[in-house]
Amino acid sequence: MPNYISDSTKTHWMVSNPKRLVRTGMDGKPFRCPFCPGNEADTPPEIYRIGGGEANKPGWQIRVVPNLFPITEIHEVIIHSPEHEKNIEDFSLDQVENIIKTYINRFNFLKDKGKVFIFHNCSLVSGASLIHPHSQLSLVPNDIPTKTLAVQPVVNIVEQIEEFVSYCPEYSEWAYELWITKITNDKLQMTNELQITNFKNINETQIKDLAKILQSSIIKLKKIHTNNSHYAKKAFGYNFYIYPYDSWYLRIIPRFMERAGFELSTGIMVNSVEAREAAKKLREIK
Ligand SMILES: [Zn+2]
Repeated sequence: MPNYISDSTKTHWMVSNPKRLVRTGMDGKPFRCPFCPGNEADTPPEIYRIGGGEANKPGWQIRVVPNLFPITEIHEVIIHSPEHEKNIEDFSLDQVENIIKTYINRFNFLKDKGKVFIFHNCSLVSGASLIHPHSQLSLVPNDIPTKTLAVQPVVNIVEQIEEFVSYCPEYSEWAYELWITKITNDKLQMTNELQITNFKNINETQIKDLAKILQSSIIKLKKIHTNNSHYAKKAFGYNFYIYPYDSWYLRIIPRFMERAGFELSTGIMVNSVEAREAAKKLREIK
């Protein structure tokens, strides 16, 4: 069971779950990927799939299973595809759409039970413990305070695909962090639109456009990483998460830099790449 612990002022929270201490690949046993087709029996029974075949057998395109090593009481794993190494930047657009459809399905299923967080940790540098690409959905009880940022004003636009934009907010805590949200072309409407859109209401066409802009954003970040000899010393990695409520957004955080003592002691993030410059560089990448 997760154990939520607050600091003495009750303003900061942490969660401890001893179940996560020894996870797959950390126990010294020969490794077999639990997310690869054919190894379905290595995960808890599945709760959702896109694709053919019987439950808990191969044939799926996307598979959702409970996390065997949960952080929170409800914690699901969304396996991006049967491919052990391919991820969003390599997939057909259909497969990226499948991932987004799965996010929406799971969000709708769980939204009344607590606060839903959907996130993806890409590569070990971002905290992933299994390489096979997957996202996670974690449900935090409503009475535990969380500190998720509100959607930031749309400035420094990198790309626009129909109603979606990717942009570098002025408040960018990480080098080249990229946000995706939904707008309309009319600025006045934009304010209203941002207030009324909800992640669960996005339609089929919008899912396609969102898939396009997400894939394009990750491809751009990968090129920034490859072209920078300092960043490229470490593997490419990022986290993204979706704030799936009113004024929803998707925030991609590249893990090019580490957090250090200043950030840990002050809570003030250091980012030496100005948002305007970051957007300019990202725009130039085709
Ligand atoms: Zn695998």
